[in-house]
Amino acid sequence: MSAWRRLQVKLRTAPGFFASIQLTRRHARQYGPLTLCRSLSTGSPLQNKYFKDLKAQLAGFRKKASDALPGSSWTPLLVSPNLPPARVDIVIIGGGVVGWSIAYWLKQKEMIREGARILVVEKDPMYSQSSTVLSAGGIRQQFSLPENIHLSLASVNFMRKINDYLGVMNEDPVDLQFNQSGYLFLASEQGAQIMEENYITQRNAGAHVSLLSPTQLKQKFPWINTDGVVLASYGLENEGWFDPWTLLNAFKRKAISMGVIPCHGEVTDLKCTTKMLRSDSDEIMAVKRINYVKVQMLNSLEYQPVECSIVVNAAGAFSGKLTKMLGIGSGPKDSIAGIPLPVEPRKRYVYVVNCPDGPGLDTPFLIDYSGVYFRREGLGGNYIAGVSPEEAEEPDTNNLEVDHQFFEEKVWPVLAHRVPAFEKLKVTSAWAGFYDYNTFDQNGIIGVHPLINNMYLATGFSGHGLQHSPAVGRAVAELILDGNFKTLDLSSFSFGRILSQEPMLERNIV
Ligand SMILES: Cc1cc2nc3c(=O)[nH]c(=O)nc-3n(C[C@H](O)[C@H](O)[C@H](O)COP(=O)(O)OP(=O)(O)OC[C@H]3O[C@@H](n4cnc5c(N)ncnc54)[C@H](O)[C@@H]3O)c2cc1C
Repeated sequence: MSAWRRLQVKLRTAPGFFASIQLTRRHARQYGPLTLCRSLSTGSPLQNKYFKDLKAQLAGFRKKASDALPGSSWTPLLVSPNLPPARVDIVIIGGGVVGWSIAYWLKQKEMIREGARILVVEKDPMYSQSSTVLSAGGIRQQFSLPENIHLSLASVNFMRKINDYLGVMNEDPVDLQFNQSGYLFLASEQGAQIMEENYITQRNAGAHVSLLSPTQLKQKFPWINTDGVVLASYGLENEGWFDPWTLLNAFKRKAISMGVIPCHGEVTDLKCTTKMLRSDSDEIMAVKRINYVKVQMLNSLEYQPVECSIVVNAAGAFSGKLTKMLGIGSGPKDSIAGIPLPVEPRKRYVYVVNCPDGPGLDTPFLIDYSGVYFRREGLGGNYIAGVSPEEAEEPDTNNLEVDHQFFEEKVWPVLAHRVPAFEKLKVTSAWAGFYDYNTFDQNGIIGVHPLINNMYLATGFSGHGLQHSPAVGRAVAELILDGNFKTLDLSSFSFGRILSQEPMLERNIV
């Protein structure tokens, strides 16, 4: 007997069942079990009228309150239909490319279908401030650390077969709009030796890069002014740029199709239990375990405490703020609790310029030794360009406004020197985004935080997190599900290096 039949029989035999109530499957589907109970009640018509009036009054109150807040999109007393579940296994905080990649890989690796309930919480559904969609979309092999080169190679291999990984049945295939094009790093006298050392590291790690003398450089790219250039390195394959929005959505669409639960809300609190432990060096440490995350629904007073076993901090530029909620960084200066997660937002401008006489189809992603970069943006003489400001000139991070003066003073002079045709360029638009900047050594921080034994960090990628997201997602999923790295050993990116003050300095930061 079906569940529905059993319920009907039960109802018929229940005391107080009214023969006149005709419940069909259609009713049940339409109104659900709540209506079924209500039909059996003898609620007076007066009471129904009271609730009707209350509904109307609430609607009136809502309108009055939102009229009183001109310009606000906040709607008071709105009941959100999208509350997250009260209990999941893993909460991923941050639905950028890193968060969704981890979610995808967790599902991909789980041993039993639906083995883990995974929730991804994102506070900015339009991604208006997320680094992912505001990035330049580049991928390169030319790093100085073998770990970063391996991350790039693994990620580019993933991108080559993206539809094998992220294709969803009956949906359009993923088209990353990948522009295969080498990065071209230029070195001055001062940087030439480092460039040679990096080249050897890159070759040993399996990357295909060539070194060019100024004469060779001029032959290959006649539009370059080689003044001041002593050496150049040019990527021969596995480099270029792609559409970040497409990669983010491809991870997200696939992960959701595999059962990951998306939620638009902000994690505003993390509830922990604390245990006092004594370290090897006799330090008494408060080690925490997160039991709940509080998810505040957007534009609403509602929130949902979500009980969970594991939390992943993939909150990008704001991941440092998240760990601060747990007291990380506010302990005594010489203790572990006194060391903050060194990740903060750093504003970076991207200028879109047009120059009909600029370099053509064979334009590489050029990084001048001054740090100024440019690349082609589609065809028709469009390019994007920028440079990271000096440490002392870091702009205010309260907003994402663009400083146009910065282009005039810091970017254009270098562009025009390096490519004389750029003397005549015109800025057509610009945007700014936040780097998830690791102030310690400008590299990712991956793994469990030593004082929060169920929080995994995946943050601090400082300008190269987009391209590494496929391999980082897999690595974090391995850590969580297998207990250690399986395919790429990224243990040197752990928080431990910050405790021991041993930076993993990446020399090729753009
Ligand atoms: C101008 C610019 C150019 C760049 N160029 C490149 C490039 O060419 N190549 C490259 O590889 N990388 C590049 N990057 C870096 C790259 O964009 C980032 O490293 C990468 O996108 C980080 O991804 P993420 O998912 O960690 O961060 P994000 O995309 O920022 O995602 C984190 C998400 O967490 C959410 N969040 C934060 N706090 C909470 C909370 N409490 N509750 C819920 N949600 C929360 C945020 O809303 C955000 O959407 C660039 C970045 C910028 C700004």
